Amino acid sequence: MTKYIFVTGGVVSSLGKGITAASLAKLMKSRGLSVTCLKCDPYINVDPGTMNPYQHGEVFVTEDGAETDLDLGHYERFLNVDMSRENNITAGQVYETVIMRERRGDFLGATVQVIPHITDEIKRRFLAVPKGAAGNLDIVIVEIGGTVGDIESLPFLEAARQKGLELGKDNVLYIHVTLLPYIKASEELKTKPTQHSVGKLREIGINPDIIVCRTDRPLSSELKAKISLFCSVHKDSVVEAPDAPTIYEVPLLLQRQGLDEQVLMCLRQRAPTRDLESWRALVEKVKNPGREAVIALAGKYTELKDAYKSVHEALVHGGIANGARVSIRYVDVQSPQLEKSLEGVGGILVPGGFGDRGIEGKLRVVQYARERAVPFFGLCLGMQLAVVEFARNVLKLSGANSTEFDPKTRYPVIDLLPEQRRVKGKGATMRLGAYACTVRKGTLAHRIYRSSLVHERHRHRFELNNRFRKLLEEAGLVVSGVHSPKNLAEIVELRGHPWFLAVQFHPEFKSRPENPHPLFADFIGAALTAAAKPSALPHAKK
Ligand code: GLN
Repeated sequence: MTKYIFVTGGVVSSLGKGITAASLAKLMKSRGLSVTCLKCDPYINVDPGTMNPYQHGEVFVTEDGAETDLDLGHYERFLNVDMSRENNITAGQVYETVIMRERRGDFLGATVQVIPHITDEIKRRFLAVPKGAAGNLDIVIVEIGGTVGDIESLPFLEAARQKGLELGKDNVLYIHVTLLPYIKASEELKTKPTQHSVGKLREIGINPDIIVCRTDRPLSSELKAKISLFCSVHKDSVVEAPDAPTIYEVPLLLQRQGLDEQVLMCLRQRAPTRDLESWRALVEKVKNPGREAVIALAGKYTELKDAYKSVHEALVHGGIANGARVSIRYVDVQSPQLEKSLEGVGGILVPGGFGDRGIEGKLRVVQYARERAVPFFGLCLGMQLAVVEFARNVLKLSGANSTEFDPKTRYPVIDLLPEQRRVKGKGATMRLGAYACTVRKGTLAHRIYRSSLVHERHRHRFELNNRFRKLLEEAGLVVSGVHSPKNLAEIVELRGHPWFLAVQFHPEFKSRPENPHPLFADFIGAALTAAAKPSALPHAKK
C-alpha cells in the first residue's frame, strides 16, 4: 500500500519546504523505495502560468506541458525523474472540477460543500499520482503550500487529516517545517512561534509526527527537549535543518540528523539499503570547485532570483560538469551602465521573459556578446532577441522587432503563428511542453548534443518568422535545430563566433545535478575557456 507523508509549513513562508520535501524524497529513494512528490497550491489560479514571477517565482514546465510550481523543479532535480501534470494540485483546479461536475448534475440533490466535495476531489488527486505512475509507489510526499493558519490552505489540510484517519497511523506521516527565529538581544533561539503553529495544526486535527526546524545556528539538546514537550513529538523527531552552502547538501544534513530513520520508523517501513555515495561525491564537487566561471544573467527580474530558479540551477550543474563554481552576476538591463556591468564576465545569458520592459537593454547585451565574441546563450525570449539584434545590426533592417513588442514593425522577424493569432484566452494556451527538435549535422548544437534528434520543453507564443530565415542564414545566423513537422526554428547559432547559441525552448528545465544539460555544460566550458585567455578573443567584428 502506498504511504503518504504530508509536509506543512509554519510561522513564515519561504522556509524551504520544497527543498525539505525533495530532500526527504531523495533519502527515501536512496533507501531503495519508490517515491514521488506532489505539490498542493492553495491559490484559486488554475495554474501559475498567468501569475507574475514577482508573486510566484518561476513557472516550471513539465515534459507533458503543464505550467507548475517551481517546487516541481526541485523534485525533478533531486529525484532525477520527470514530474507530470498530476504532481501539482491547485485549489483552482479542484474547484473547477467540482463546479463542472455540479453543472453536469453529478451531485443532484446535494448541497456542494468544502467537506466532503472539495476534500474528496483533493483526495482523488492524491491517488491519481500513484495510480498514474508505473507500478505501485511506496511513498508519496505531499507538500502543502502556504503557511498553517492561512484560510486558503484549510481544505488541503483537512484532506490530509482525513487521509490519516482512512489509512491509519502506520501509513500516514505529518512533518511540520517551521522557523526558530534568533533574537539578538537575548541571544536565544525562540520556540514560541513553533508552538503556536503546531497549536494551529492541532486545532484542525493534525498532530505532527516530526518537526523540522529551520535555524541559522545549531539547535541545543535542551531546545529540542522543549520543542518535544510543548509540541508533543518524540525528541528524536525534532530535526534541525540548518542553512546549507548548497541546497544539494540538505539531504545529507537531514540524513545525519536521522530524518530518514525517523520517517521509516514512524511508517513501519522496512528499507535496508542506503546509497548516497554518488550524491555525496556530487556535493563535494559543488563545495570544492577547482575554478570559477562568471556568468552575466541579463533578465528583468533581477531583484527576485526565484524568477530564474531553473536557469540558476542549470548553470550550477554546468559548473559541476566542468569542476567549476558558477558565480552569477545579475545585471540590470535598464541601467545606463549596462555594458560596464558586463565587463570581465566569461559568458552572457539572456533568459526567457514576457513584456517589453528591458527589451532594448537586452538587445544591447546581445550586441555586446556578439561583437566582442563573449560566449552567449539565449533562452526563449533570449533567442528571439538574438534574432532581432542580428536583423537590426547585421542585416540593417532598421526597426526589426518581435510583433510582441511592436505589432506594426516593418520587419517582423519574430511573429505569431496563425494558430496563435486565433487564441483568445491566456491560460495554458502557449506552445507548452516537450517537442522534438531535429539538429543539423556539422553545427555547434550537433557537436554538443551528439544527436540529431532531441526533445526540449517550451513555453512561448512567438516564433522565428520563416520569411526572414534565408536572409538571416546567408548573413551567418544559422538555424541549427528545427521542429520538423511545422518547420519551426528551434536553435540558432552564429557562424564565426566562438560560442553563440540561442534556443527557442527552455533547456534549463531538463538539467539535473546528476545529469547536467549538455548545452549548459558546454556553455560553462566555453566561458571558462574564454576567461582563461581573454587576449585570444577576436575583437569587435562589426
Ligand atoms: N514572450 C516570448 C513568447 O511568448 C518569449 C517567452 C519566453 O521567453 N518564455 O514567445
